[in-house]
Amino acid sequence: MFRVRKHLMGMVVFFASLGTLCSAEKEVTLVRDGIPRTAIVLGEKPTRSAHMGALELQHFIRLITGAELAITRDAKYPAEIRIYVGDSADTVKAGLKSGDFEGETSLVKFSGNNIYLIGCDSPDYGKVDYKDSLTFPKFYFNTRGSLYAVYDFLEHQCGVRFYGPWENSTTFKPRKTLSVKAVDRKFTSPLDAFRRVWDDDETYSMFPLSARERALWELRWRMTELYGSVNHNIYSIYFTHWGKAKSPYLAPCFLDKRENLFAQGYKGTDSYNDPILKDNYPDDPDLPPQLCFSNPDTAKYFGNEAAVYFNGGNVRGGWWNGKGTISPEKCLTPRTPGKPFFYPVEPADSNLFCKCGECSTQFPDLKGDERISNVKFAFVSAIAREAAKKQPGAGVSTLAYIQTLDYPKKVKIPDNVSVQLCLTHFAWWHPGIRKSQEEQYDLWIKNEASRRPVTLWTYIFSPHWDARRHFGKYNNFPGFYPWQIGKMMKKFTSDGIKGWSTEVELQQSCLEAYVSAKIAFDPSLDPDKIIDEYFADSFGKAGDAMKQIYREVENAYWNYRNYPPEWFKDIHKPYGPHGPHNPHWGTSLHSEEVNWAIGTPERMKKIEELLKEAEKQVETPEEKARFQRFIAGIWDRARRGRVEYDVKLANMGKTTNIAVTPARHADAGGDPGKIDWSKAASTGAWKRTMDGTAHPSQIQMRMAADSKFLYLKYTEQNPPKWDDSSFWNNCVELYFSELPMLPLFQFAVSPDGEKKELVHKMENDVVRMEKYDFKAKFISHAVPDSWEWMLAIPLERLPLDGKRIAMTADFFRTYPGKDARRRASWAPVYGLDYRGGISRYGRIFMPVVEYQDSSFSFGRSNKPMDNTPDPKASDGRAGIVDGNKGWTLTCSLGPIEKAQYNVTAYIRTDALPEDGLTTRCGIYDPEGKQIAGVKPIPVKDISGDDFKAVSFGPVTLSPNMYFYVGGFSKKVSGKNSVYVDRFILNKMPSK
Ligand SMILES: [Zn+2]
Repeated sequence: MFRVRKHLMGMVVFFASLGTLCSAEKEVTLVRDGIPRTAIVLGEKPTRSAHMGALELQHFIRLITGAELAITRDAKYPAEIRIYVGDSADTVKAGLKSGDFEGETSLVKFSGNNIYLIGCDSPDYGKVDYKDSLTFPKFYFNTRGSLYAVYDFLEHQCGVRFYGPWENSTTFKPRKTLSVKAVDRKFTSPLDAFRRVWDDDETYSMFPLSARERALWELRWRMTELYGSVNHNIYSIYFTHWGKAKSPYLAPCFLDKRENLFAQGYKGTDSYNDPILKDNYPDDPDLPPQLCFSNPDTAKYFGNEAAVYFNGGNVRGGWWNGKGTISPEKCLTPRTPGKPFFYPVEPADSNLFCKCGECSTQFPDLKGDERISNVKFAFVSAIAREAAKKQPGAGVSTLAYIQTLDYPKKVKIPDNVSVQLCLTHFAWWHPGIRKSQEEQYDLWIKNEASRRPVTLWTYIFSPHWDARRHFGKYNNFPGFYPWQIGKMMKKFTSDGIKGWSTEVELQQSCLEAYVSAKIAFDPSLDPDKIIDEYFADSFGKAGDAMKQIYREVENAYWNYRNYPPEWFKDIHKPYGPHGPHNPHWGTSLHSEEVNWAIGTPERMKKIEELLKEAEKQVETPEEKARFQRFIAGIWDRARRGRVEYDVKLANMGKTTNIAVTPARHADAGGDPGKIDWSKAASTGAWKRTMDGTAHPSQIQMRMAADSKFLYLKYTEQNPPKWDDSSFWNNCVELYFSELPMLPLFQFAVSPDGEKKELVHKMENDVVRMEKYDFKAKFISHAVPDSWEWMLAIPLERLPLDGKRIAMTADFFRTYPGKDARRRASWAPVYGLDYRGGISRYGRIFMPVVEYQDSSFSFGRSNKPMDNTPDPKASDGRAGIVDGNKGWTLTCSLGPIEKAQYNVTAYIRTDALPEDGLTTRCGIYDPEGKQIAGVKPIPVKDISGDDFKAVSFGPVTLSPNMYFYVGGFSKKVSGKNSVYVDRFILNKMPSK
């Protein structure tokens, strides 16, 4: 292992002729003109931390100088300068012993020609093979002070920078002579609980990491987990007290069914989607989506689990034994000497909380999430008290996450609780989101940071996250914010947080993650200096141009004035593309439209010019490779995205208002066989899903509606030959939603008559799919040269809007075979992700829209109209109008389709008939500020107890116009009320 390599022979000769040097000087020359003068000395039995340190030191000095330093355990090894890594007999003689340090402390100390790189190492011994990451120092509950001393030395003394996990993201200046300044520096990171970076793009990054690269990256960025980390962890109680798990390892855990430990009120809802539990209870529609937080036995259960782990055991289904395959005797969470112990308990990632009497009435003076947060922290506090009762020293760590980020003012949290706050700080350019999260953060820090470990879970996301997960995988303009994140991390660390972990898409946001990890390790660093160094070190002469690009993007991305102004009208009620946005969360803001309002053509051009400059200026192969990683990993997507968005804008111009109004049909009782399809409306020819061009398929979709059902008839001539493709590769899918957003209802049918019915919902940033029952009547008929099916769906099972005017919909035909691009749809979505293309779906307008008295307003205000019982009215009630006043009743038409309609009002009056006496009824257009249609109605025609149909039309109507009923043509003494039952719009068939 520690062979003397051949250049050492040269070294021995060389330094013998030089004599002593530099002992009195402030600088020590490790390698001169490519000749090593230094040996790395390890102890007899080094820790893995020290051993790894020696190998890393040797590796980087060789990269810098070309010289390979010997690693030796021989105290007499001939070398002029000795670097001791970890402790050994010689360091003990010099008064330095690993055991004298605490926590993660590391020391870099110069003494004459001796350099000591030493620190507190956990007793983790074993041979390290530099090529095999499985032999590297252990990650969890393991301190690596000696290795950290080496990194400290490499960074501060030798100028090495570990900017990222890829080999060429590490920088240094190659030189034949390496001299280092003498220092005496002892360092301990104040964030002693954990520092962790999770790359969320592990499975889809263009630059995947090998296990070794990942392990080196974690060590070089000084990531660690010593105590207090937490994630969702409530599984074992299901295996013990809900039912026998499917897994043979977990099934024996079942003791007895205790339903009241779990959330009440979700029986039969099939609402739990967590894969760990779903896999173990696959067909259980009663599986509760949460725990009961108020049941003292639930708290007792987890208090006990915490004590078991504290005592060195574990629980099948508990932390790090989710599959139950590990023996309960094994210690999975060793206690770190000198550090507290917290067992992670975080409820399910679901906002379906328990509805039992106690849970729903706790903290009655609080509302919404604030109440939920108090209920949750009362629960966690009860667990912590139970744990301490069982086992003094045992504590509980938990999250303050979305619904529970609110500081629980009414709960006195015991001291043995550690809290990790989840902050979506990447979206803090949004003033409403920032204010809301910062307010809660400040409360937690002010009230709790001195009493317990308060730690952070941050999210280093960018528009790429939203593009990928929320808006159909469009190619996006990037979002950079290294300077902003630097300021935020300075603030967090100066507030005394004890741990930090983050999620990141490394390919997009590696610099932001690097700045954060650096400051988390050493909060005294200056982020601006870190960033300046990054650009100069990584890109050489092109550093300035690259830095300007980051500045340009950060200034645009982090400026709320570049986002739709209506999002910021009320800072307490943040908005996003889907309307009101939960301020405790930050994703799903960067829709394609919003993103490309930032990546303007002008900004793209400016950045392209800077890139041209940078491309000329990068010199070394490493600089060129880093530049190419930026282009391939980030900028190519922006280039493609801008072009695709421009094409879409053009296409959307051609294809907007894809809409259909089903033909009105006499009531057919939900039987599609009774529909006269020759009179039904047609969707028109379907297009290619990908690009909106003409599709050769012979597909026809016809639609009709009666007062209770929507009817569809699909025919396809010469469909491809059936093969044994899976359902989803040969089917027609129908999607319906109220607006172009979730929830989205899906009905899918295959040629063999199989069907699937689902609803897609968004919950805590995860799309959940559940079974749905359209209660539809379905008839399919497939023969070799044609496929035909008919469907009748009750209107009440469709996501029509409140007045049943319209809904969003699209229909897709997926064909078997290799060419996925041969897909057809009614409205093209310009992508293969049907759900993600929702913003391009069409609209289905109902042929008949009825406005009942519940939609009437008083005068021109939005004040609801009083209505009165009226046995002759269609629904038993009618609006009542003082006929001596004008504009007494209005009724907004809502988001109807702009088209020609026949309009019918059902109206009567108790005024006596009189020649020439009229009242007026009309339609007003607030945009054009004019009356769109008006009809004087002779009182004699509508006088009496019966409502009379008054027709006017055809009238061209647009969204948001409204009906009004005006006053009599002259004042009437005596009875003067006008009663309005309803208005009905009948769309005229289009020519
Ligand atoms: Zn409950």
